[in-house]
Amino acid sequence: MPKNRYVSTKLKNEVAKRAKYLCEYCKCPKAYAPGPYDTEHIIPISKNGTSELINLAYSCNGCNGSKYNKIEASDLLSNQIVPLFNPRKAKWADHFTWSNDGLLIIGISATGRATIELLQLNRPELVNIRRLLLLVGEHPPID
Ligand SMILES: [Zn+2]
Repeated sequence: MPKNRYVSTKLKNEVAKRAKYLCEYCKCPKAYAPGPYDTEHIIPISKNGTSELINLAYSCNGCNGSKYNKIEASDLLSNQIVPLFNPRKAKWADHFTWSNDGLLIIGISATGRATIELLQLNRPELVNIRRLLLLVGEHPPID
């Protein structure tokens, strides 16, 4: 394992705390997710990304698995290849919004739309969690 891939527990905790324990892509709270969360390299190590706070994001396993080592994806509306959402360079609300019923993430930019498509930010399981969180007044999350 290359040395620069290593992320210390202290750094992982900082990343999680900075994200308020919400996946920085789908916004699912860790407290309600059955699976583990990852400290994700926004620019992958394979593309010369570093293990510093500026290149790390808190991500649920589903989002991280879909993103894998990609940094761009195609926007089906403009038919262009665009950069994926980078939570260190932009605010979530610059690229995404919630549907009126709060269940779906809607892309409001080419990057937003491409990220939703690639990371599958409206996976049925996520929609189910959002529906339940709405009932207990814990959704949408306050950013
Ligand atoms: Zn996620």
